[in-house]
Order: sequence, then C-alpha cells, then structure tokens
Amino acid sequence: MLKFIGKGVYSAIAIGKVSVLQKSYTDTTRLKADDKNGEISRLEKAKNEAIAQLQKIYEKALADAGEESAQIFDIHLMMIDDEDYNDAIRDMIEEGFSAEYAVAETGKSFAATFSGMDDEYMRERAADVKDISNRIISCLKGEATENTDSGNDLIICAEDLSPSETMSFDKSKIAAFVTAYGSVNSHTAILARSMGIPAIIGIGRDFLSAVKNGDTAIVDGGTGELVVTPDKETLITMREKQQAEIKEKSLIEENRGKENITIDGTKIDIFANIGNPENVKNALLYDAGGIGLFRSEFIYLDRSSYPTEEEQFEIYRQVLSEMGDKKVVIRTLDIGSDKSSDYLDIPKEENPALGLRAIRLCLARPEIFKTQLRALFRASVCGNLAIMFPMISSVNELIEAKRICDKVKNELDEKNIPYDKNTEIGIMIETPAAAVISDELAKHCDFFSIGTNDLTQYTTACDRQNPYLDKFSDTENTAILRLIEYTAKSAHDNGIWVGICGELAADTSLTEKFLKIGIDELSVTPSFVLKVRDKVRKIKLEG
Ligand code: PEP
Ligand code: MG
Repeated sequence: MLKFIGKGVYSAIAIGKVSVLQKSYTDTTRLKADDKNGEISRLEKAKNEAIAQLQKIYEKALADAGEESAQIFDIHLMMIDDEDYNDAIRDMIEEGFSAEYAVAETGKSFAATFSGMDDEYMRERAADVKDISNRIISCLKGEATENTDSGNDLIICAEDLSPSETMSFDKSKIAAFVTAYGSVNSHTAILARSMGIPAIIGIGRDFLSAVKNGDTAIVDGGTGELVVTPDKETLITMREKQQAEIKEKSLIEENRGKENITIDGTKIDIFANIGNPENVKNALLYDAGGIGLFRSEFIYLDRSSYPTEEEQFEIYRQVLSEMGDKKVVIRTLDIGSDKSSDYLDIPKEENPALGLRAIRLCLARPEIFKTQLRALFRASVCGNLAIMFPMISSVNELIEAKRICDKVKNELDEKNIPYDKNTEIGIMIETPAAAVISDELAKHCDFFSIGTNDLTQYTTACDRQNPYLDKFSDTENTAILRLIEYTAKSAHDNGIWVGICGELAADTSLTEKFLKIGIDELSVTPSFVLKVRDKVRKIKLEG
C-alpha cells in the first residue's frame, strides 16, 4: 500500500482501477521539412480538423459540465484562429521547420509569455494555448484524441491533463482524476468540479512510477490523498466513508429547498454557524436559511495588529451581500480566554475563562469596539444584518454596549454615512446569570441566541477545554434545559425571538424538546443543516 498527498479538487471519495494516460503527441521529433507549401496545407487541414473536434467537445462540455465550463472551449476556438499565433507558426514553416515542430515551439513560446503575466486570468491561458497546440499536433500526426479507455470506475493518472483531455473522457466510466501537476483553479480542476468527479492535482511526479494500469486505488478528493493498492482494512474504512458521503449527499438533495416544518405545521428557522467568509458557500450549499452566528474573532487572530475598519467592512460586506436578503447574525469580538493574540496585550489571568474576554474586553477598550461597530453598521446596507454581543452577564453591560452603538450611529449620521437604522441588536445567552435575568435583558434587545457551549461550561463549572471533564459536563443536564426553557419564555413574554447557536442545536435527540420549548431558530455547522431539517420534518408535536 502506498500513499501520496496532493491538492483535493472535488470533495468525494472514489475507489477504482488505475488507468495511466500515455501522451505521445507532445513528442515532435520531426524538425525540418523541405516542402513549405505542403507543410502549410497539412497545417490547414489539421487546424480544420482540430476546430471540428473542439466544436464537438464544446457540445459535450455543455451537456456534461454546464455553460460556464463549456466556455473554456469557446476560448480555445478563438485562440486557434488567433492571428499572431497563426502568423508565428507560418513564419517558422517558412524558415523550413516542419508543421508539427512549428506548432509545438509556437505553443511553448506563447504559453511562456502567458505564464509570466501578472493577471491570473491571462496566466491561465498558458494551459489553453498548450492544449490547442497539442490538439493540432495530434491531428497532424493522425493520432486519436478521443480516449478509448475500457472498463469502468477508472482512476485516470497523468502527468498533467489539459481541459480538452479532461472533457474527452466518457464521464460514465471515470471515477477520478489524479495529476502530478496543476493548480486548484486551473480549468481542468474547474471541469472536474463541475462534472462532480473527485480529483487530486499537484501530487508530484513520483506517483506515476508507483502506479500501473489495473491497480486498485482510492482517491479522497476532500483530503487530497491517493492510496495505491490499499490493504483490506483501509479499503473497508474508505468504503464506509464513501457510503456515508453518498448518504449525506442524498440527504442534501432530498431536503434541499424544503421547509423546516413539523408534520403538524410548526415552523423553525435553521441557520448556519460560520467562522470566516469562505464558509458562506457551505451555508448556501447546505441550504441554510441564514447565518445564525458569524464568529467575527477570526478577523483578529493570527495577526500582529488590530484589523482596520476598512478590512472589517470588506469582510462583512462580502458575507452580507453573498447571503442576499437572508439574515446574518454577526457576533462582535469574542476574544480572550482560549482565543488570543499577543498584540491584544491581555494581562495574565489566573482564570482566563472567567476573565477579561468578549464584551468585557470591548467595554474596557471602547475604541476597538467602536471600530468594529462602525464597520458593521456601514456594512448593514449591504444585506440583512443583526449584531450580537457575546458573554453578557448583566443588564448594565447590555445598556453600555448599546450606548456605544448609539454613539457610532450618531457619528455616522453626522457624516451622512448610510446604515440600516433597523439593524437588530441581540445578545448571546451563555452565562447562567444572563439566563436567570433573561426576563430583564429581553426588554433591552431584539433577540437572544443561546450559546450552549459556554452556558454548559459556566453552569456545570466544567472547563470546556479540559478533556478529563467530559464525563462530568453533562450537556443534557436538566439545569441547562431549564435555563434554555426560561430564556425562551422570557424572550416570548417580551415579544422577541430566541435561537440556539451552541453545539447542542445540532443534537437531533433534543430537536423535539427545543421545538416544544418554542425555540425559533437553531444555528448549526453548515453540514448539519439538512440533518436537523430532516429531523424537524419527522416530528409531530401534538398528540
Ligand atoms: C457558545 O458558547 O455556545 C458559542 C456558540 O460560542 P463559542 O463556541 O464561540 O464560544
Ligand atoms: Mg461562547
């Protein structure tokens, strides 16, 4: 058993038989030719043949991979007729070189020019010009360009794959692609993704000498791992992982677009928790109704100074506009305790989890808080924003945080900077104190989101970072459920909505209980959205 690691392009597992792609047509040993006119007419014939092939590939790409992917071949059709490219080939033939050699050398030199360009789009054209040149050379040599691999579940292993080679395979026979070179944003990678075929690229040249036709192999497009001739145990484990993935994907398809509604008609919102803007695509992929918790602290971590207002504004703007009119709850800075950076200069604390963290740090350093709030309010016009404060434990803290919000809003008004005046302001209920005084807190905010991770830690006095305490930290502890129940009652008595965004929200053994309590929203890791929806749709609350 041998393992290789590259870059995964499409996250799925494939188990199949290796088929090594042999490329002969890049070999252009025929250098010189005496009959210049003969070479020109050979070139024209080959070019026309290549154009006809590209038109066919365009149609195939349209059917198998969609319009966006098919456009790649539109570009090829344009490039093959490019005047500069054609003149360069003809000039070389006029100098006495063979058509094959002239095309190969021109292709190489154009590709080198594209590769050296600053613009990423132009750099990508290098692969295209190589691709069309190879196609013309194949036509000149009378080589087949269609792949005729026999068998199914083929794992195509190659040094590199051009977009048109990728498209020339019969999709129904291909299980995966693995290439020694390539980049995740190359057209080949994009095509593999749009065809839904797992692929690993940039795995390094060595793998080609380790694989041979017919070897059993496993491609994990998620982790980027290729296993050649796996042992029995690995095969079993990966088959199980593959089955679990297939099940999850069918759950996505079955539940996509459906309502989060119980058999007897109770509806709930199911939102997603995200930690950075890249996670938005997962939230949308799994059909979340909104973002219930955007942990904004990632913007502050792994750096050496505070993020500027502009940096933050750009991130919030991006998330809000990608989510359109769906609600996005952004939690203000929740840093300190286990999440910190040197530049924050938080004094050493005996009990950091009970220390200067989250809203306390923001109230102690209002300038940091104001910068974030300014960025947030400015971004509020780009979507449906709600702002949420973490770790509230008293009414005074909430009033003080809101006072700073008002100050920021006044400053924006003075400068005529637009913001959404109806932006909801909510709080996390994650300290027992907040849950106990939730009836009072509800009078000062627009929503609650229960952070069961910290609520459990503080209620049970079990450090959430300490693995030895797992057996003591009973997340289904009656104490926590009572606090959740009381918080929900306080919210509804005061006409505000209440959600749960801690890990407990995804525990489907509690979904029915949460619905009975009257929780309005559950916010979970994106990949759990459909699992929770599935559960909700199977629940009957009455009778
Ligand atoms: C929580 O405490 O439940 C929560 C959602 O916040 P975090 O896990 O980021 O502390
Ligand atoms: Mg928390």
